Amino acid sequence: MYQRLTMMACAAALVITASLKAADVPEKNERQPGQTSIDGHQDTPIQPNGKWHVHDGERPQPPVAEPLYDGKPVPAPKDATIVFGTGVDKLANKKWKREGDEIIALGGDQWSEDKFGDMHLHVEWNVPAGLPGWGQSQGNSGIFLMGKYEIQVLNCWANRTYPDGMTGAVYGQTPPLFNACRKPGEWNAYDIYFKAPVFEDGKLKTPAYVTVVLNGVKVQDNTEILGATQHKKLAHYTPHAAEESIHLQDHHNPVRYRNIWVAPLTEKLGK
Ligand code: MG
Repeated sequence: MYQRLTMMACAAALVITASLKAADVPEKNERQPGQTSIDGHQDTPIQPNGKWHVHDGERPQPPVAEPLYDGKPVPAPKDATIVFGTGVDKLANKKWKREGDEIIALGGDQWSEDKFGDMHLHVEWNVPAGLPGWGQSQGNSGIFLMGKYEIQVLNCWANRTYPDGMTGAVYGQTPPLFNACRKPGEWNAYDIYFKAPVFEDGKLKTPAYVTVVLNGVKVQDNTEILGATQHKKLAHYTPHAAEESIHLQDHHNPVRYRNIWVAPLTEKLGK
């Protein structure tokens, strides 16, 4: 079964890569001037796959894929719930600066007033050009599904970090299939298809699953989430409610967000 799923994932990846122009973006995976190494860790536990440490800098870097997103706001479908958009602000932390239809990730973590379980979450984000630092310091933020499961936000254009901490990663668990980041200063779009975990009698019944499309490129394909996001530790589940807030991370970088909406999950996820 695993092999079949892997083959399906590879087939899906091949379809996407067929339309790519990887040769057009050779500079994208170069390190920034001053970046002399990858900020990974090998003093951390081994992942359940038995191969790599949590945040292992030696883990292979995913290939670069040409982004297919043009940077324009993607209209919400009619049945979507707008979390943050034109004339709608249902984000609870009012310390984040609002600039028109954009919001800046400084002032503590952010969270949605509404709570969600299974969902198709659309989020657009932009790491300003010219930020100092590299690796995890280069425009770090993140989208915490149910406030617990982080899909990383980071500038990964001309900036390298450990693969399970890249944009498109289930942070600390599963690297993206591709590096599909746009340049700093340009808008990126996430479409995150999420099946919430199910708990029964205080125990995990079925884990969460996620498919992530970054800038039109599938970077997670029905990936099992191993538990709540951890730093330098193995993830594990703790029972929680069937619906929770979406959180956005303040990692002390002025990452911009706009056009956040949630539509019903129509993708079939899980085993
Ligand atoms: Mg983060």
